[in-house]
Amino acid sequence: MVDLPRETQVVVIGGGVVGASVLYHLTKAGWTDVVLLERTELTAGSTWHSAGGMHTLNADPNVAKLQQYTIELYKEIEEVSGQDCGITITGGIMLADDERRMDWLRNAHARGRYLGMETELLSVAEAKELLPIFDEKYFVGAMYDAHEGHVDPSGVTHAFAKAAGDNGAQVHRDTWVRALDRSSEGIWHVHTIRTSTGEDLGTIACEHVVNAGGLWAREVGRCWLWNTPTFLPKTSPKSPLTTKQPATKFFTALTLVAKSTCAKKAEGFCSEPTNMTGAPGHLKKPPGNSGCNS
Ligand SMILES: Cc1cc2nc3c(=O)[nH]c(=O)nc-3n(C[C@H](O)[C@H](O)[C@H](O)COP(=O)(O)OP(=O)(O)OC[C@H]3O[C@@H](n4cnc5c(N)ncnc54)[C@H](O)[C@@H]3O)c2cc1C
Repeated sequence: MVDLPRETQVVVIGGGVVGASVLYHLTKAGWTDVVLLERTELTAGSTWHSAGGMHTLNADPNVAKLQQYTIELYKEIEEVSGQDCGITITGGIMLADDERRMDWLRNAHARGRYLGMETELLSVAEAKELLPIFDEKYFVGAMYDAHEGHVDPSGVTHAFAKAAGDNGAQVHRDTWVRALDRSSEGIWHVHTIRTSTGEDLGTIACEHVVNAGGLWAREVGRCWLWNTPTFLPKTSPKSPLTTKQPATKFFTALTLVAKSTCAKKAEGFCSEPTNMTGAPGHLKKPPGNSGCNS
């Protein structure tokens, strides 16, 4: 096992898809003296629960652009890392259940045009041909995006980590950030322990800290002084769908279709910690009385 460095340029806290992606992008931009610290195992957080649905449409054009970029990025990291990301392009359908929603789709379709998206407006009958499982009497129209689909969130995270590692970054698992402080010169000190044993792993000095703690971002922030807002959607949709059907969005209820969506979603969209072995919500509190992630 490689020892933790004592100094580095950037410490990324959290080994979900966001932390791993930040790590990869830092190395791509030439910042190779960078370290990711993950409390348990890569993808142990909400990334593990994700259905991995990829969507290009968003009310915010910047987010829509970012989503488009990400779809291309999955292909890139799969190639660079050699790690399978489970990219499956099924196409995606958004169904409108009334005229007001259909207007919204027309608007989204027009906006998609100037963002370079190739969406198509469909009649209910056309949508039904692509996705036979819905009851057309509840809908008035639809929009189709051929570029939507799903990925394997674990594969993607490991691909980012592998590609970043190949560029010089370090990834340390079983490493829990318990406290942060900052010197008067602006140097961060990141205090760590080995999660499984409670052993003190010492401090890393760095110029920048990235809080990629996901659902625990608030607790990570409290290691210092940030109060990061986080939110958790609360619903438990179930769907008898397969992996090859187009991803589908209804407006009154959101259903995403992807590998093992049903089980994962039912389990993951809840405010209580799940029973997933090793999930951070079930970690025993280690020795020490830091307020960070306790
Ligand atoms: C049921 C479900 C379905 C979803 N479906 C989709 C979908 O179809 N498409 C989509 O795009 N998104 C989906 N999402 C959302 C997506 O999963 C999240 O947006 C994404 O996983 C967030 O990643 P993250 O890296 O920010 O957080 P996380 O994956 O939670 O990662 C945070 C990591 O930080 C670590 N950590 C926390 N505190 C510390 C500390 N002090 N020291 C070290 N490490 C620490 C944790 O162990 C964890 O591994 C879904 C989410 C859920 C729950």
